[in-house]
Amino acid sequence: MNDCLFCKIINREIPSQIVYEDESVIAFKDLHPVAPVHILIVPKHHAEDLLHLASDPAGATVAAGVLQAVPQVAAAAGVAANGFRLINNCGRDGGQTIRHVHFHLIGGRSFGEKLL
Ligand code: AMP
Ligand code: ZN
Repeated sequence: MNDCLFCKIINREIPSQIVYEDESVIAFKDLHPVAPVHILIVPKHHAEDLLHLASDPAGATVAAGVLQAVPQVAAAAGVAANGFRLINNCGRDGGQTIRHVHFHLIGGRSFGEKLL
């Protein structure tokens, strides 16, 4: 995806503060953190959003890669013991601004307030 910001970060065309990387995902600090820890976990496989990923032939494999990266990223960020939130914004009403599926791992403070 030539014009995708996160693909450019994955390809090192745009700098980022990488905290974790393996063959299927990259994780880097969000440019505008909303918490002391705010890391984006981004599959290297380009899919526009979570729904596109779910219907992609590679979707299950990519999702498994995200799942196995979560504890690694949480440990690297120092939030494994106290916990964190993992958020996906999907589409316009979900507030998604970057059209490359990604997950926000936020922590380092309590999120006592409940959305649900
Ligand atoms: P979303 O709104 O769910 O699509 O999340 C996109 C996130 O990407 C936002 O939290 C932005 O702050 C973040 N962001 C945008 N550009 C960059 C960048 N160059 N490096 C790191 N994070 C970024
Ligand atoms: Zn992309």
